[in-house]
Amino acid sequence: MTPLKIGIVGVGKIARDQHLPALEANPDYQLVAIASRNAALSGAANFLSLEAMLEAMPELDAVSLCAPPTVRYAQARQALAAGKHVMLEKPPGATLSEVEDLARQAQAAERTLFATWHSRHAPGVAPARDWLAGRTIRGVTIEWKEDVRVWHPGQAWIFEPGGMGVFDPGINALSIATAILPQAFHLREATLQVPQNRQAPIAAQLSFSDAAETPIRADLDFRQTGPQTWDIHVDTDAGRLTLSKGGSALYIDGEHQPTGEEQEYPALYARFAKLVAAGESDVDVAPLRHVADAFLLGRRELVEAFHDE
Ligand code: NAP
Repeated sequence: MTPLKIGIVGVGKIARDQHLPALEANPDYQLVAIASRNAALSGAANFLSLEAMLEAMPELDAVSLCAPPTVRYAQARQALAAGKHVMLEKPPGATLSEVEDLARQAQAAERTLFATWHSRHAPGVAPARDWLAGRTIRGVTIEWKEDVRVWHPGQAWIFEPGGMGVFDPGINALSIATAILPQAFHLREATLQVPQNRQAPIAAQLSFSDAAETPIRADLDFRQTGPQTWDIHVDTDAGRLTLSKGGSALYIDGEHQPTGEEQEYPALYARFAKLVAAGESDVDVAPLRHVADAFLLGRRELVEAFHDE
């Protein structure tokens, strides 16, 4: 297969940490361009905007959008209108409606739209889903607690409207839960702690249940210092399953289970190439829907101001 000519848009933390190395290692792609207001990359054409990139490089097949979610819709729309296949970082947009609109646009343009959920490709996730299939779930506890100053230094956008605050990492837990639990679930109650000088929550406690009233609780916190916690515990009729370290480690009744190695972003690009070859899209808004529900139903508590220094 001829490699897909791809451009990266928004060269920040995630593009540098994950997208550039994953593309470099995958012969199905040729990284031909970046669009960035600040970064420069040798070996590819450098543009200051997506618009300039699309205009100068009609041979481009695809773009991968790595900026924060509030600019995703406008960029994706522009790229689809120019006939490009589009890969979206998570969260796929700032609202459900805009993501659904993009899915319609991709279909009309006969281009691939891939709304990625990188955590679903963590090595423990597929074996966890397989182990849970057919079991009776008695309860689920999600603990997703990290230090915002360590993982999102200087990212003011994260506490702005559309930045989603602690749901920026928390949506990763929800992307795993919606992939591994055998039944759909929905929000019953939520409390959102919002710093008095910010717009988005720094912590949240969520209480969901499925049709069988199974309790599913999530505790999200951006204020965790010291050891970080990205754990999901599922109690079942056959014991307790724990996904730890963001889905990369799997335990059954405390016993470590063998899993493959960490390959989240390589797996995303492999899937994108397959979707393009098959002429298909993959847009699952389930994790974003739970976040939207939390903003609809959540009780808001003002907490101490947050200063990022
Ligand atoms: P970031 O470093 O703050 O921003 C990414 C880049 O987006 C910026 O460097 C900038 O690129 C561009 N950008 C920022 N604001 C923009 C605006 N208003 N208009 C146009 N471009 C803008 O953030 P990040 O951590 O990479 O996160 C980006 C996305 O990746 C988020 O949706 C996040 O949830 C997701 N993600 C992040 C991580 C992580 O560990 N940080 C992990 C997985 C997924 P230029 O300077 O090149 O223009």
